[in-house]
Amino acid sequence: MKIAVCPGSFDPVTLGHLDIIERAAELFDKVIVLVMNNSTKKSAFTVEERIALLKKCVHNAGIEIDTYNGLLVDYAKDKKAVAIVKGLRAVSDFDYEFQQALINKSLYSRIETVFLAAKGENMFLSSSMVKEVCSLGGDISPYVPRKIVNDINLRCKGEK
Ligand code: ADP
Repeated sequence: MKIAVCPGSFDPVTLGHLDIIERAAELFDKVIVLVMNNSTKKSAFTVEERIALLKKCVHNAGIEIDTYNGLLVDYAKDKKAVAIVKGLRAVSDFDYEFQQALINKSLYSRIETVFLAAKGENMFLSSSMVKEVCSLGGDISPYVPRKIVNDINLRCKGEK
């Protein structure tokens, strides 16, 4: 069984994330969406809340949701994952993602990083952009699953 891990902060999950997760699920037998804390980013939702939002949106038997605080490659090794799947939006993502892929390969030589190109309409989409639009009173419904629009509005509207 080929297992892949899709790591990220998912603060909150967007249609861009879901596209990558679902496409990964077409390529691998099992995909683990791994919610991680990024210490360089101030988060709007706790890890538990981010997991709950993801669970509202993901209903595919081949996709699991988990969280981990340590090294991504240690988690991948423990789960016997063969790949880390990342979405690439633009050249601006590439430098950082390429560095991550190289460091992960050097830490654990059996792991591959697979990059999936973002869909054209998701190229500009990020969790930060969703939070920014929401905080300023904009309509976020084109960017996130309908089921979580209210949750995000409740948390982020008017927050600055
Ligand atoms: P963000 O950059 O929005 O804070 P994350 O850190 O949660 O997102 O990213 C998790 C993964 O999802 C990364 O591989 C990232 O490149 C990918 N990703 C984020 N937004 C998009 C998008 N709009 N389209 C495709 N992939 C995306």
